[in-house]
Amino acid sequence: MPIIAIVGRPNVGKSMLFNKLAGRRLSIVEDTPGVTRDRLYAPCEWCGRPFTLIDTGGLEPTANDDMLRFMRAQTTIAIENADVILMICDVRTGVTAADRDIANLLKRSRKEVVLCVNKCDSVGSLPAELYEFYELGLGDPYPVSSLHGHGTGDLLDACFERFPPEEAAQEQSEPVRVTILGKPNVGKSSLLNKLLGQERVIVSDVAGTTRDAVDERLDNEHGSFIFTDTAGIRRKSKVEESIEHYSVLRAVMSIERSDVCLLMLDAREGVTEQDTKIAGLANEAGKPSVIVVNKWDAVEKDDKTMGALTRDIRQDLLFMSYAPVEFVSALTGSRVTRLFEHIGHVYTQNRIRISTGQLNDVLADAVTKTQPPTDKGRRLKIYYMTQASTQPPHFVAFCNDKRLFHFSYKNYIVNQIKQTFGLDGTPIRFTIRERGEKD
Ligand code: GDP
Ligand code: GDP
Repeated sequence: MPIIAIVGRPNVGKSMLFNKLAGRRLSIVEDTPGVTRDRLYAPCEWCGRPFTLIDTGGLEPTANDDMLRFMRAQTTIAIENADVILMICDVRTGVTAADRDIANLLKRSRKEVVLCVNKCDSVGSLPAELYEFYELGLGDPYPVSSLHGHGTGDLLDACFERFPPEEAAQEQSEPVRVTILGKPNVGKSSLLNKLLGQERVIVSDVAGTTRDAVDERLDNEHGSFIFTDTAGIRRKSKVEESIEHYSVLRAVMSIERSDVCLLMLDAREGVTEQDTKIAGLANEAGKPSVIVVNKWDAVEKDDKTMGALTRDIRQDLLFMSYAPVEFVSALTGSRVTRLFEHIGHVYTQNRIRISTGQLNDVLADAVTKTQPPTDKGRRLKIYYMTQASTQPPHFVAFCNDKRLFHFSYKNYIVNQIKQTFGLDGTPIRFTIRERGEKD
């Protein structure tokens, strides 16, 4: 999915525009424990084509951050990850020094940029101040009022014109994009080196991307892969990385670009709070994950250690029960190649398509085995189920009354689907609708 990232100095209206463009879709983001509810990113759609919208301003600088440095950091992250960057200015203040600074960074990046001049609230003739923004050298400024929504259609059209062509993005033989996630020092770079080094068929320089330096392509008997090491991104950038939330923003963006996440834990520490956060991000994005317990060589163990640690991990990452767990050593290479099988498995599952006919067979069986609940004499009726989308598999059930569709019955139906189709490796979405209810 293409990514649009919003950048701009404080108070120009980034979050208001974000909310306007994302609309009510924001509310569908599911709750995951351990995840900050910052509205950092949202799945969106324009003229039937989906995209991801990211608000780099969703993270506020802390009191001791230098504002200019903070903005540069956010802009750099957007440059590294987005397909199109939406730079927002404020028509009321005109062009400021900070705007020029951001614009210069963007120009040097040679990324696709759309310049948006916000707070053009009055309808009719364009404000004369608009023309001032040509000075930034980012092409035509698009006047918008985030407050009223004026101009947002033209703005999105402009972004879409700058997206990579759709056919290219959906090519059959596309390699599997794998992002290696984990806190600093957990062993991400070591793992990447082991994954690449052992196979020897390394093709760097992925054509057509501006991310050659951090994306590593690998072709082997398991398939074609592009690995992104989030630490690699960090080392390359000139931005100082003192603040944890930059790494959250980076993680969010690289998760969005990936098909599969490798979530690395340190075997000596188990699941830390930061691990839970990162795992939550991958889960919310609907991406399948493999939990990679690294530094297994450094653990004193007996025949019970692995079982006990697995139980602890399962307990701490309850919302991720679908992710396989593998114990590796990036140092010695032990069990590292097994990761390819896990990646292949969860990738396939994440892209599964189940026909409506098959789903309704499952539904009929399930309803026969366990009757739907009743409330005050009214019984839940489930008319039919269908798969609305894939990556992750999203199922929709249509019923007579949502309130009767209890949590436990929903889980029961989801489990029936999982069991029937062996869907053990991917997050799943399940939506309940009443008949006649739109979208
Ligand atoms: P951010 O810091 O860039 O995310 O900016 P915000 O979205 O928080 O907006 C800053 C201020 O500008 C808020 O008081 C908004 O209500 C106001 N604002 C944002 N967009 C518009 C707009 O299109 N028109 C007007 N009049 N005010 C706006
Ligand atoms: P990153 O910051 O996540 O990329 O971590 P690095 O790959 O740079 O590794 C951080 C440190 O952990 C280095 O000193 C590595 O040698 C060490 N390390 C990485 N993997 C292992 C492992 O499997 N076992 C042991 N004992 N040390 C490891």
